[in-house]
Amino acid sequence: MVCFYHPDKPAVGTCKHCLRGLCADCAATVDDVLACRNRHEAQVIALEEMTRLNVLKSKRTRSDYLRNTVFYGTVGMLFTVFGISQIRWLGWQGIVYAAIGLALLWAALANYLESRKYK
Ligand SMILES: [Zn+2]
Ligand SMILES: [Zn+2]
Repeated sequence: MVCFYHPDKPAVGTCKHCLRGLCADCAATVDDVLACRNRHEAQVIALEEMTRLNVLKSKRTRSDYLRNTVFYGTVGMLFTVFGISQIRWLGWQGIVYAAIGLALLWAALANYLESRKYK
């Protein structure tokens, strides 16, 4: 295989976007893959970014949701208990803390319910 842009030079790889052969001068490295220098670098970056996001999404598992449940549950509990115990001294600020705590507990519940879908 020879370089698409320089037929007299051997190709070192292919562009991930257009799959043309590239010589060392034409190949730009994006992460671990090659792209036509100054031509398809942006496209390949976008392509890699999309692949990376997909991997992250599919890696979201039951244990992630359970970890979130524990985290939101613990913090939510602290806020709620703290808020309620401080209402006498802080007044409406205590209520705000308790409301934040309840919102976090709600998030914990939502994460718990979500985790049950992954059984
Ligand atoms: Zn290309
Ligand atoms: Zn070339």
